[in-house]
Amino acid sequence: MRLSATETELFEAIRGIRVIDAHEHLVPEAVRTARKVDFFVLFSHYCAADLASAGMSPNTYRRLQDDEEMPAEEKWRLFEPYYPMVRHGSYARPARIWLKEVLGFDDLTAANCGEVSKRLQEANCAGLYERVLRDRCHIESALVDNAEHHAEYDMDLLRPLWRVTDLAFGHSVRAYLASGGAGTLDGYLHWVGARGEELRQVGTFGLKLISFPYSRPVADEAEAVLEALQDPEREARLSWTDRTPLLAAVCDRAFGLARRHSLTVAVHSGVWGDFRESHPCHLIPLAMAHPDVRFDLFHLGMPFVREAVLVGKMFPNVSLNLCWNAVVSPELTVRMLDECLDMVPLNNLIAFGADYRIAVEKVYGHLVMAKECVARALAKRIDRGQMDVPEATAIAQRWFYDNPVAIYGLHREAWARRY
Ligand SMILES: [Zn+2]
Repeated sequence: MRLSATETELFEAIRGIRVIDAHEHLVPEAVRTARKVDFFVLFSHYCAADLASAGMSPNTYRRLQDDEEMPAEEKWRLFEPYYPMVRHGSYARPARIWLKEVLGFDDLTAANCGEVSKRLQEANCAGLYERVLRDRCHIESALVDNAEHHAEYDMDLLRPLWRVTDLAFGHSVRAYLASGGAGTLDGYLHWVGARGEELRQVGTFGLKLISFPYSRPVADEAEAVLEALQDPEREARLSWTDRTPLLAAVCDRAFGLARRHSLTVAVHSGVWGDFRESHPCHLIPLAMAHPDVRFDLFHLGMPFVREAVLVGKMFPNVSLNLCWNAVVSPELTVRMLDECLDMVPLNNLIAFGADYRIAVEKVYGHLVMAKECVARALAKRIDRGQMDVPEATAIAQRWFYDNPVAIYGLHREAWARRY
């Protein structure tokens, strides 16, 4: 993308800075390299939403994503009708940045899809994460939300969070019952506390939650949800909101761990699924009820961005984490960074988290896009004479590195000793 002279100067100044990737779902490297990849890995993950909107059936998407034996040319035939509809979208841009900057192709075509696939698979071997994340992106560490593989991370480059939301789902209740639990609310909450301590021993760098309408838990209501979760048929009838009495009780217990060990609670908000249910304003009663717990609100609650900014502005224990935003919409992200400069203290904002699971290559393009957004927002202030390039560069460094380090306590002594 062509930037103005000031934007370019600032982008170049921050091109090589150290970065914390403040949100990922990346599987451990060995899990990723154990599967074969082809060109479609670059268009998996969030592109799925746009491809579905463009008319691709879930079955076609599954075949493109999961069939490791289908030849690239055959995959191209399935992909080709939809690609023109999504290729200018910002979800597709990290793929196109990888194609251009790393593989040297202007775009994906019938002629080069085989070669692109071959080169992606050649690089799909031990050291992949180090090469992409550390060498290419200058990422010191990434915070990962992936409950399935929690204990398998190296705890240095990839640092897992404890996914508290899972505790309001049947699979967690069944794990509790299988451990000999009696099925009472007290027993379950005790198990939750012990589970948190257990994961912290392995390595847990924060808690992860999806924003939900919190109110002080009522034991009878929480107990009723716990009972329903023991029966898969009854659980299938529960909405997200139906689970919240139990989730509120779980949070009150789990936050004890956050308090004792100064762990920050990351809170997903907006963008995905029925985004009304994870409205950023749901965080207000939760943050007020736990003033001594630190919350990091994700994604500016898209599309409820102004509400999210105000939550970050008005509640001292809430910071804003713009992970994912740059690829949902760079234009909206630039506008909101501009408004954040007006409204949010500079130490209360994190600029980047790439939010991928398998497609580690896309972290690079996402980071380029996040840096462009920051450069564009700050360049406006420079062009208006409100700050100079060195000051803007220092702000960007804060947003990409210093703030996530401080907000998640990533350099604390205890981590260094333990890991
Ligand atoms: Zn995520």
